[in-house]
Amino acid sequence: MKIICIGRNYTEHAKELKNDVPSSPLFFMKPDVALLTDNKDFYYPSFTNDIHYECELVVKIDKMGKCIEKQFANRYFSKVSLGIDFTARDIQEECKAKGLPWEKAKSFDQSAAISSEWISKEELDMENIPFSLQLNDKVVQHGNSSDMLFSISDIISYVSHFVTLKTGDLIFTGTPSGVGPVNIGDKLTGFMADKEMFNFSIR
Ligand code: MG
Repeated sequence: MKIICIGRNYTEHAKELKNDVPSSPLFFMKPDVALLTDNKDFYYPSFTNDIHYECELVVKIDKMGKCIEKQFANRYFSKVSLGIDFTARDIQEECKAKGLPWEKAKSFDQSAAISSEWISKEELDMENIPFSLQLNDKVVQHGNSSDMLFSISDIISYVSHFVTLKTGDLIFTGTPSGVGPVNIGDKLTGFMADKEMFNFSIR
């Protein structure tokens, strides 16, 4: 199982990190050991002083596919969830400045938190999925799938031309603006519409 993450998929977030808006989806991957589920605590890693939350809609692939045409992409997933793409922003800035890969900043253990709740796509309007993140009960991010530069179908089609998608793979679809740091003792709570999807602590 692999975890594919999309970067810079919301204009306002690309701007807040002073990045150009991409003309095609930007993706990177996390290993299976990055997965953090079931509201387990996130342990602040010792190699960074600037861990950021990035709240994102997540889809789970449930059929193997390669070179998927956009109009058939919706056949390859049935459920949507919410997660956090944890990012060591200090290390990412260093990597970006040196033109180095992002793995140290993005792909560490526990860096892909997802809710154990999944919502079937039939229950959702895929073009209008509101979601939000609270840090210690204060809203810090809110987004909507309607603001994505590349839709979930665009992403599935694009990525599958490079990497075969397999059952169980997860795709983090990018974060809206409002990213920021977490500290030990903080609590993160994520919502899709009004439904609480996850609630866990930083230790
Ligand atoms: Mg992200």
